[in-house]
Amino acid sequence: MSTSCLMVGAGLSGAVIGRRLAEQGHKITVMDGRPHIGGNCHTERDTETGVLVHLYGPHIFHTDDEEVWAYVNRFATFRPYKNRVKTTTRGAVYSLPINLHTINQFFGQTLRPEEARRFIEAKADTTISDPQTFEEQALRFVGRDLYEAFFQGYTIKQWGCSPTELPASILKRLPVRFNYDDNYFFHRFQGMPEEGYTAMIARILDHPNITVHLEATVTRDRAAAFDHVFYSGPIDGWFDFRLGRLGYRTLDFERFSHKGDWQGCAVMNYGDVDVPWTRITEHKHFAPWESHDGSVLYREYSRACGPDDIPYYPIRQVAEKSLLAEYVALARAEENVTFTGRLGTYRYLDMDVTIREALDCAAAYLRAVGDGGAMPAFTVNPL
Ligand SMILES: Cc1cc2nc3c(=O)[nH]c(=O)nc-3n(C[C@H](O)[C@H](O)[C@H](O)COP(=O)(O)OP(=O)(O)OC[C@H]3O[C@@H](n4cnc5c(N)ncnc54)[C@H](O)[C@@H]3O)c2cc1C
Repeated sequence: MSTSCLMVGAGLSGAVIGRRLAEQGHKITVMDGRPHIGGNCHTERDTETGVLVHLYGPHIFHTDDEEVWAYVNRFATFRPYKNRVKTTTRGAVYSLPINLHTINQFFGQTLRPEEARRFIEAKADTTISDPQTFEEQALRFVGRDLYEAFFQGYTIKQWGCSPTELPASILKRLPVRFNYDDNYFFHRFQGMPEEGYTAMIARILDHPNITVHLEATVTRDRAAAFDHVFYSGPIDGWFDFRLGRLGYRTLDFERFSHKGDWQGCAVMNYGDVDVPWTRITEHKHFAPWESHDGSVLYREYSRACGPDDIPYYPIRQVAEKSLLAEYVALARAEENVTFTGRLGTYRYLDMDVTIREALDCAAAYLRAVGDGGAMPAFTVNPL
């Protein structure tokens, strides 16, 4: 049986679900309020320098999921890429995540791995037995010196509050490596799509059963015209924010250009609280196989998200979670709408997780259509 489905959002969620259903004969309409596809993964060429830019912040693909890795490689050529982040703090440049090089440089030591482990254990605040806050967790893991230099200022800027107000769960495990591995991610598969994410998503959407409409913002009253709607916009937005707005952090990007190489790496964090930006990204370093004389960079600032700003990071503190629970109850009462993706479920999702959940969501819909069952409002639990 063929159905007609509306994908609200032409980001990874809408594109991946739409493609899977289109391949099974369903008619797919994709609508996005923006003038481009790709959602927040959107990449485009900078007109001045020709450099490929990640317009909504730097995106590095990494995953352990073999099916997801095979999926993205079907639609794009991936070049090997390791994310090696640096940070400027207290007038010096260090390697992140904190590793043996960082420790030796910061403390002026020449420690080997086991010596460094004992050294850091001696710095850790063992009087904290049951850490409740981000600050307590960091102090317990790494002690005050590393915490203040590498976590405190950056966290205040990123979240707009003191680490004493954030839950310990943000820092789940020891954020330190006792070797010289400075690869930011642990995942087996890592890379960059040679022509950018938007080209990859364009290929995902390129199917005779898919029609894409841009600059087309969808409201709830449009749903009735389709057999089913997959909504990857903000869950509170679907209900016209009638219970209030879920809290997000938004980002401001300040562009500047330069001849040659400005900072020598793709991402430079800034740990000091008196430097207002959190990081500077020099996009040409994401594509070392290309050659550009000019360079384009973005300073990134984080602040509270207002009604007209782009929502980036869900806050998910106690107050937001209780409001989310109310919206989830409303969503579960909707007919023929499934809420997906980072905004539809109000969670931070890496791209590989977004694709995994989109593939699972499409499979659930195909099963429901096949056996006449109901398609739920969520195929993952957003709470
Ligand atoms: C700063 C930043 C850096 C990141 N870096 C990485 C990284 O390095 N690696 C990684 O794996 N992941 C990264 N991510 C995560 C990645 O951006 C997400 O996994 C991905 O964008 C989720 O795709 P999505 O389709 O769910 O949402 P989105 O990309 O947000 O797409 C949703 C789309 O829906 C549209 N929309 C919303 N409401 C409506 C409406 N009512 N009508 C029509 N259209 C609507 C929006 O315009 C948008 O285009 C990063 C995220 C951020 C914020």
